Amino acid sequence: MTEKANIVVIGTGGTIAGQGKAVINTSAYLCSVLGIDEILRTIPHASELANLRAEQLLQTGSENFNNEHLLAIGRRVSSLLAQDDVDGVVITHGTDTIEETAYFLHLTLKSAKPVVVVGSMRPPSAMSSDAALNLYDAIAVAAHPSSRGIGTLVVANDEIHTARDVVKSNSIKLEAFRSPYGALGHVIEGRPRYYRRPWRAHTLDTPWSIDTLGALPKVDIVYAYGALSPDAVEAIAAHARGLIYVGTGNGNVAEHLIEPLRDAARRGVHVVRASRTGNGIVLRNGAQPDDAYGWLTVEDQIPPKARILLTLALTQTDDMQALQVAFERY
Ligand code: ASP
Repeated sequence: MTEKANIVVIGTGGTIAGQGKAVINTSAYLCSVLGIDEILRTIPHASELANLRAEQLLQTGSENFNNEHLLAIGRRVSSLLAQDDVDGVVITHGTDTIEETAYFLHLTLKSAKPVVVVGSMRPPSAMSSDAALNLYDAIAVAAHPSSRGIGTLVVANDEIHTARDVVKSNSIKLEAFRSPYGALGHVIEGRPRYYRRPWRAHTLDTPWSIDTLGALPKVDIVYAYGALSPDAVEAIAAHARGLIYVGTGNGNVAEHLIEPLRDAARRGVHVVRASRTGNGIVLRNGAQPDDAYGWLTVEDQIPPKARILLTLALTQTDDMQALQVAFERY
């Protein structure tokens, strides 16, 4: 019999740590109340998959997570992965921003050991909760050797997603997580099965290390519509080093917002055109003449993850071309 992997499970809160008054409360409940030890006690059979150690790092809904939370999670995971007696890490996390934390880790951890971020859409107290099975599956994925070297993963609803692609795409259904090019694989009865690998660079192949990152530059997001006032764009651009402009369709910009965004770029704010559609790519020099205006384009990334990527890229360069390459490489 092969030795069991040593997996550390870190608790950070969310619905997976939530509790409702009654079993019918699938949507109305208190978030982030159960400790990680209590959650693990609901799946005693998980100890057949791995030697488990638990620690509570945070206890809050993921809608509250800012850059400091990301740095704290990343630093703790990195120090655990550096230990010889740790083979992988599972992070229980709210689902609202799970893809942002996972993508941040995917780009900044310097290890091939598996890291799996997991949440649930229903609290453990609800009928047909997905909490126990999602956590059991996440531990199975983290403990399995086939999960090494493929970056940070998100496990939900029997599926294994790469952090780069996964998006929470439904506010209420169990089937909430979607990767535009499909999941990497699935988990059935404690065994992961993979069908493909992430293509874009991650973990060991990025220039960012969580161990050397200091304070992160401020990058903000503006959600656009025809009636959006130039004042709003100017107010946000005044305090940011980067601005993800979430335009309509293929990252389109309303006529009255072109000058405010060009002004921001002239003042050294990195303006990135993204799309409200949630799918597809924003074509450089397509809907707008990006070269002439000094703007960047997001490629296929969703706005919140584009914010993470631009934040990291700006820790090393202000060069437009290098920043654009980052959107095409990661
Ligand atoms: N508000 C919760 C969170 O993101 C929702 C969830 O976990 O599903 O922390």
